[in-house]
Amino acid sequence: MSDLGGPQIDPSFDRLRGEPHRRYNPLLDEWILVSAGRTSRPWQGRRESSGAQALASFDPDCYLCPGNVRASGERNPVYDTTYVFTNDFSALRPGTSTERIEDGLLLAEGEEGACHVLCFSPRHDLTLALMSADAVRHVVDVWADETIQLGGKYQWVQVFENRGEIMGASNPHPHGQVWAGTALPREAVKEDTAQARYHAESGGRLLLDYAAQESGGPRVVEQNDDWLVVVWAAWPYETLLLARHPVGRLPELPPSQRDQLSDILIRLLTRYDNLFGLSFPYSMGWHQAPFGRETVDHWQLHGHFLPPLLQSNVRKFMVGYELLAESQRDLTAEQAAEELRAASPVHLKANRGRASRG
Ligand SMILES: [Zn+2]
Ligand SMILES: [Zn+2]
Repeated sequence: MSDLGGPQIDPSFDRLRGEPHRRYNPLLDEWILVSAGRTSRPWQGRRESSGAQALASFDPDCYLCPGNVRASGERNPVYDTTYVFTNDFSALRPGTSTERIEDGLLLAEGEEGACHVLCFSPRHDLTLALMSADAVRHVVDVWADETIQLGGKYQWVQVFENRGEIMGASNPHPHGQVWAGTALPREAVKEDTAQARYHAESGGRLLLDYAAQESGGPRVVEQNDDWLVVVWAAWPYETLLLARHPVGRLPELPPSQRDQLSDILIRLLTRYDNLFGLSFPYSMGWHQAPFGRETVDHWQLHGHFLPPLLQSNVRKFMVGYELLAESQRDLTAEQAAEELRAASPVHLKANRGRASRG
């Protein structure tokens, strides 16, 4: 990201740095309160432990490690690359009745779907940030393959990862999930509506034009020829990973763009790890065009990264005002981007040097 050495901050936004203000999120068509400077307030609440314990590369008690038995009684194969299985406790299941029940103002609909688990690596002690570029590229391929497979049957395919205990990850083994369902979920409906409206008005794709506008600017954390990472929205260090070419879904990505994606993923996640010197917790996930439509020309593939931390051991709570009024962020997007750009994109632990396929 050498071309982003020292971006000039747009003076009109920089003026807002210490001032409470609201910013518009065009993708969700909603406003966010920015209360910059809140990070300096005294904090006597909960502090998170770093949870930094050295992990072994294999844990005999881990239900995701190769060769181990899961809660269902099934035994994992001795896999040596990304391994996919159906979640033993699926939130959505194939064959569920989609019956609709109405009672006055109350409505219910059966929801059919599927939940898969993806073990990114056989190595218990790695994370995406610590895996080799080849191994991360393989994860990208599996995300794309899962999208094709599940998109053949379901309208919405949600690829995601919860990383870290603080995000409710039940196991430190590097893994993600894919949930697919017949309905379009709430966030997808909002993004679908905003992107369709923009496309109808301008003929362009909202997020493609947004990537072009943000390129090289003060909110950019990483960029290469095919991708761009920009700080945005509500969580202190929340980012959006944008494709810089028109693309609706992961399977459409040509090999070169998948390679570039693996590279920028590792760099972004490593910056996160180095920001506070700990294995950074987050939820991440892909939003891609829904299936079963005649046209989805308004849809642009993108990834969301939602990390919960405000400082190294203080988490951001979305509580009173956020739950009841609107989201509120505690530092400006420009400040957060500046801090992330100052964090190294290279991992000090450099596990990647090892010739492990993990
Ligand atoms: Zn494991
Ligand atoms: Zn989205």
